[in-house]
Amino acid sequence: MRKKLQKFLNVIYPERCPVCHRILQDQDALACPECRGVFLPVGVHYCLKCGKPVNPDEEYCRECTGRKRYFDRGRGIFLYDGKLRRSVVRYKYYGCRRYGDYYAEEICRLGRAEILAWRPDVIIPVPLHKRKLRMRGFNQAAYLAYRIGEAFGIPVSGEILLKIRNTRSQKKLSAMERHKNLLDAFRVSADLTGLTVLVIDDVYTTGGTMDAAAACLKAGGAERVFFITLCTGRI
Ligand SMILES: [Zn+2]
Ligand SMILES: [Zn+2]
Repeated sequence: MRKKLQKFLNVIYPERCPVCHRILQDQDALACPECRGVFLPVGVHYCLKCGKPVNPDEEYCRECTGRKRYFDRGRGIFLYDGKLRRSVVRYKYYGCRRYGDYYAEEICRLGRAEILAWRPDVIIPVPLHKRKLRMRGFNQAAYLAYRIGEAFGIPVSGEILLKIRNTRSQKKLSAMERHKNLLDAFRVSADLTGLTVLVIDDVYTTGGTMDAAAACLKAGGAERVFFITLCTGRI
């Protein structure tokens, strides 16, 4: 019955490829066969702290050098280039939620070694403020987190880390104020003592959000905080 309904829905709203956005020939596939491999994985030279691409002779990126990070380590799967940017915009704002199934599949495939090595007790998505969640209709990071958790048999909770303040307008703030603003934006609603947490988000840029989330999780008792994001911006 469900399959029939899905087939019917596919006729009215055909599934599209997350890479080229064309209607998928095979409606059960997550991407066109020729489009797999178009998104560029981060190469072998990446920051040992945050996963940003670095030069072959560097261990840490400029942003992680000489700075305390609250997360232990993390990495992005793909480079945030024009193609992926357009895809993520459709995923987040234009109802192409099923793109998340392809993203999650790629995160599981390319991030498998890290996830197995880090052995997280729980997976936590970067939360949205409830007003933003209402506007967007779904949390793009949580969508990925639940699929990754399912694939690895790791519990996922979207209720532990909460965004209690909207931090949209950060532009006018100094770096210090921005940091403080972000730190106050999250709250942890459970005791995480001794746990290893894996945080999931869609995009990593300066690391401000991830660092603030990690600081909050550690204040809530987490022993180690790792992260994986779908993509990471160049420096
Ligand atoms: Zn395609
Ligand atoms: Zn770094």
